[in-house]
Amino acid sequence: MKKNIFEIIDVSNEIYDKGLVSGKAGNISARFGDVVAITPTLKSLSNLDEEDIVLVDMDGNVLTKGKPSSEVNMHLEIYKKRPDVKAIVHTHSPYATGFAFSNKKLKRLEGFGAIKTPYLSDIEYEKPGTDELARSASEGIGDEDVLILKNHGVICVSDSLKEAMLLAVFVEETAKTQFITIMLNSAEDSN
Ligand SMILES: [Zn+2]
Repeated sequence: MKKNIFEIIDVSNEIYDKGLVSGKAGNISARFGDVVAITPTLKSLSNLDEEDIVLVDMDGNVLTKGKPSSEVNMHLEIYKKRPDVKAIVHTHSPYATGFAFSNKKLKRLEGFGAIKTPYLSDIEYEKPGTDELARSASEGIGDEDVLILKNHGVICVSDSLKEAMLLAVFVEETAKTQFITIMLNSAEDSN
């Protein structure tokens, strides 16, 4: 468990350093059997300590000191629906979140594995930290690995923390590429 807690801290540092989260935004969790380790509320992911990581059971009961992320229910509901998911990374990465605030859908570019649909799945806005968001996100993710939360951010899930983090990086790169493409195409139009 200790090793896994340090992995959450490493991944937190990495996504902060890559600019996928800023301030006190974003949250990360990993599941170990019936226990979920999650980043705390109201703390920057940039410099977490071992004791900052909060353990909760699948009903949301806090097993350690500290207060879990306000999105803990969203994480738990996804774990309950998806036994294959062992880690969740939630970011407000700027380019992908820009798309989430716009009326443009994010294309599923090459690298997402089997093309299921041409666009990444999304769900309509629900207030952060609410049961409504937890319910909508856990239903909306279906069997996808990425879910765009309209007017909010991105959720990436995987069977390991490292993979969920890499997916979050890839989603942001995809959004950046798509943004550049849109800009170039619109510049061409004005010639
Ligand atoms: Zn959020």
